[in-house]
Amino acid sequence: MAELLGFEIVDTSFKAYVTKLIKKYEEGIKTVVVSGNPEVLYTALNDSEVKSLCIKSDIIPDGIGVIISGKIARQHFEERIAGIDIMCSLLSYSRKSRAPIYMLGAKESILKRAVDVCRKKYDADIVGCHNGYFDIDDCDDIIDDINKSNAGILFAAMGCPKQELFIARHMDKLNCSIFMGVGGSFDVLAGKVKRAPKWMINCGMEWLYRAVREPARILRLGVIPKFILISLMYDKRKKDR
Ligand code: UDP
Repeated sequence: MAELLGFEIVDTSFKAYVTKLIKKYEEGIKTVVVSGNPEVLYTALNDSEVKSLCIKSDIIPDGIGVIISGKIARQHFEERIAGIDIMCSLLSYSRKSRAPIYMLGAKESILKRAVDVCRKKYDADIVGCHNGYFDIDDCDDIIDDINKSNAGILFAAMGCPKQELFIARHMDKLNCSIFMGVGGSFDVLAGKVKRAPKWMINCGMEWLYRAVREPARILRLGVIPKFILISLMYDKRKKDR
């Protein structure tokens, strides 16, 4: 494992991580997968509930800010592991093994389209779904629905920190094995948002593509330099000790 700001981050290849995650699923080990991008990790530094969840999760190195911070802290990541790619691998796994999946999040119309794509394009076993607009502290009906569906994998697509807080507060009551916060991935599945071209993803420029396509996100980009700066200060303090 690599270490960043006190968090342990997955440092294997994408393929090795997916293999390990599926093995844990088949052994019935409860696993939370957190997309370790600057926004989520920065939230974790400031919110004790998200922090506790991150500490017991598999944090994958998602986002250029985390890769740069890793370089500063001389931590080696085999490669960037994007949460959306893990989600797609689990959808393919569901096609082969019929692993039951519950999709929670996004607006109703987007969710319906995303479910349709998962069933038709991936032939995944989607056993239930619910939109992401509800009170996470008053949602017993949704917890019941997820448990009644017998889902083994839960994708929570409600953005950070809502999806992380939902998982933190309810995972003990849920019978799923894999809990994964997938942010805006249902918007991508539904075709509402496009992913950057491969060459941009490979150069670590996906953030720029998203900012140009969705200018409302520009303010959120401030977290990337802030996160890198905090990593730099953390590393300096560690060296001074
Ligand atoms: N969302 C939701 N419930 C909310 C707020 C947001 O389900 O209360 C959904 C929203 O519709 C969108 C996703 O959460 O589909 C947030 O995506 P965002 O782009 O913020 O996530 P990112 O990919 O940046 O982590």
